[in-house]
Amino acid sequence: MTDTVLAVLNQPSRSAAPHDPEADAFTWAKPLEEHIQVMDLGLTRGDGVFETITVIDGRPQALEAHLGRFVRSAAKLDLPEPDIDAWRRAIEAVCARLDPVREAYAKTVLTRGVEGLGRPTGWVYAAPSADQTRDRTEGIGVVTLDRGYRHDVERTSPWLLQGAKTLSYAVNMAALREAVRRGADDALFVSTDGYVLEGTRANLIMSVGGRFVTPRTDIGILDGTTQADVFRFAEQEGIETAYELVTLDDLRAADAMWLVSSIRQAAPIHTVNGVRQEMDLGMTERINDFLLARQD
Ligand code: PLP
Repeated sequence: MTDTVLAVLNQPSRSAAPHDPEADAFTWAKPLEEHIQVMDLGLTRGDGVFETITVIDGRPQALEAHLGRFVRSAAKLDLPEPDIDAWRRAIEAVCARLDPVREAYAKTVLTRGVEGLGRPTGWVYAAPSADQTRDRTEGIGVVTLDRGYRHDVERTSPWLLQGAKTLSYAVNMAALREAVRRGADDALFVSTDGYVLEGTRANLIMSVGGRFVTPRTDIGILDGTTQADVFRFAEQEGIETAYELVTLDDLRAADAMWLVSSIRQAAPIHTVNGVRQEMDLGMTERINDFLLARQD
């Protein structure tokens, strides 16, 4: 972890007091030393939001899209609005300080802060990414798992925070372990009423009769920055794109499919619930070349 670079924000939200009125916008810190108090609600309740941003050759990708989702997630949790300018500066600073490396990531975390203080905590760190070559070139197997909510949960029960990128990822990690127990690499969540949602840390894109289709983003899933950029690639290539309600039958009938996310980018899916699927490795390579070349 010594190649990790960490900055702790002094005032993550303009509407809340700074941690130290005399201090700069952020403080450099040593990642392995303690900075977060044990009573921080981000730790004790997972009460906060985060973003993970791909960094290629020191440059954060889809930065404005990530910052926009960070603000929307914070609003869903009634957290004080993140000071986007302070966060942008801190993200760029940690990326610039990182030892030169082709692929890295930056992670922003905003919590409700120490219990009783009424002041959020914020930090951002950057570190080199693990090698993603195998997932991108050989593909991954997924299993479908019931998420336990209907597809309209975001509208009927907004307090469940589906569609917000909260720190409460214990459920996503449990689903991932269940997928591994079933011999797969990842899980694909399905709503109780039978609609395909998203992966544990990624969105689904299918190629269907020459079109790119992804599940609608108003069904309690994250609006993926990578998915949006894959659609930008498709539109540039003259490929039609669509946001739809996707059933398990639609999934089985797809010509090819990918899980897409920051860091991993596009991983082709070779197996769903133990059944082999066609992969389009030529298209996968073109998508990943496009994603890795993003300049903003
Ligand atoms: N869905 C979930 C549940 C995620 O955790 C993520 C990313 O971490 C995504 C989708 C993909 O989002 P992005 O492409 O912006 O990384």
